[in-house]
Amino acid sequence: MSTIQTILKKNGFFRKELFSGDLKVYSPINGSEMASINQHSRAEAEGTVLKSKEAFDKWRNVPAPVRGELVRLLGEELRAEKESLGQLVTIECGKVLSEGLGEVQEMIDICDFAVGLSRQLYGLTIASERPGHHMREVWHPLGPVGVITAFNFPVAVWSWNAALAIVCGNPVIWKPSEKTPLTALACDRIFKRAIEKFEKAGHSAPEGLLQVLIGGRDIGEVIVEHKAVALVSATGSTRMGSVVAENVAARMGRSLLELGGNNAMIVTPKADLELAIRAITFGAVGTAGQRCTSLRRLIIHDSIKDDVIEKLVQVYMSLKIGDPLSHNTLIGPLIDEGAFNDMQDAIKAADVQGGGVVCGGMQVKGVKGGYYVEPTIIEMPRQSSIVRQETFAPILYVMTYSDLNEAIEIQNDVPQGLSSCIFTNDIREAELFLSASGSDCGIANVNIGPSGAEIGGAFGGEKETGGGRESGSDSWKAYMRRQTQTVNYSRSLPLAQGVKFDF
Ligand code: NAD
Repeated sequence: MSTIQTILKKNGFFRKELFSGDLKVYSPINGSEMASINQHSRAEAEGTVLKSKEAFDKWRNVPAPVRGELVRLLGEELRAEKESLGQLVTIECGKVLSEGLGEVQEMIDICDFAVGLSRQLYGLTIASERPGHHMREVWHPLGPVGVITAFNFPVAVWSWNAALAIVCGNPVIWKPSEKTPLTALACDRIFKRAIEKFEKAGHSAPEGLLQVLIGGRDIGEVIVEHKAVALVSATGSTRMGSVVAENVAARMGRSLLELGGNNAMIVTPKADLELAIRAITFGAVGTAGQRCTSLRRLIIHDSIKDDVIEKLVQVYMSLKIGDPLSHNTLIGPLIDEGAFNDMQDAIKAADVQGGGVVCGGMQVKGVKGGYYVEPTIIEMPRQSSIVRQETFAPILYVMTYSDLNEAIEIQNDVPQGLSSCIFTNDIREAELFLSASGSDCGIANVNIGPSGAEIGGAFGGEKETGGGRESGSDSWKAYMRRQTQTVNYSRSLPLAQGVKFDF
């Protein structure tokens, strides 16, 4: 049995069910067809939403700490399955095993966070201007939450949303990427095991608390358009996000958008260059450049550019490209042929726009049938149109600056606003970058690359990245509705602002 078949089996998939439908699933490792599974119809998807609505009516009345207990059990199940689910992430989306395992660790971390949160969904008490009155702000469950996810974080993004949504009292409908449905089905199984343990302990979870919808854009559209879906949390390209935003807004629904990034690093002459080189390399080539937070633009002081590029080229030449399941591989495959073509098109466009390839760009032998590429460095004379767009591949555009304000201007002069960073040991430079006139991104780091966020912070970005925040901090508030309550315990009815209405 091949390694891929063994991993599928470890995750509970059996041959018969794997080939019962028409959605073909390929492994980017070698392009082999792993499965062809059943897709839902639009009618089935609509039925799922109605079931979710019924689940909401029950789940919202379960005390939040009890809801947290279910998420605690989910975290335990994930701990037990870390190895097998991490491997499945690797064979389905191609990221190297350490990153596949890291993605599952991120799921465990958010479950821990959500369990604590289940006892901390704090509201406010507010001083009333009227005697004998009490005002307070209370957070209530919102309703069914639709989660639409991208291929490159096939499971972690779901868990960021689901762990919080469930603790906040909401059922979840998950539409994973059509390129990575198997990991979603594996998570569904893991979740069901947590529910079994929850019920064995005497609690009850409504049917339909988590439902997974398999299919493409048309199935995602059902979630987007259905009035009963209170929140649509969509992760993916800006192209997808702008359609989703418009359609959810048209029905006055709520959306949480996590879209494309075009992340930069500024390296100043005061930087620890050794640290910077490590961060550039992980940021630009990790996950084969297929993270929303991947480093795509290097804005470097002209006095150190040649030195940094020389060192980077040396490192790039030493990186092992190949089978992501093999322990010493650092760069796995691109997701598919389309991603490979997009990368080649971007390299050609950069050339036309005056860029010069410093290294990389070629297809390499990895595992036969997969799309493996050399990570690429391109020097650009200016921030031209190709640099201003997100190409989901390991291309690093290098530009120079002479004054830090100019560097910040270049960094901000793109449509996206996800992640950013500066490498410097000068506190003035660092604080300027973090100030109101510094980076305009949702994430701004000092002496840390743009990718690899922890779950404790709110994750998301500005401008075309969509403005959503999920995961840590107070992101939970997106999954609840805020109610301002005023109680009059006096025997009179004074009106606010001293208004008189005597009759
Ligand atoms: P994609 O936009 O092609 O697909 C994402 C998901 O949206 C899929 O499940 C797809 O079926 C669904 N979809 C597409 N059109 C839809 C529509 N009109 N209505 C409803 N659903 C629709 O993205 P991808 O190629 O899977 O992922 C790569 C992109 O995702 C990159 O742009 C990357 O930056 C972005 N991303 C962003 C974040 C973030 O947190 N900001 C995280 C991961 C990925």
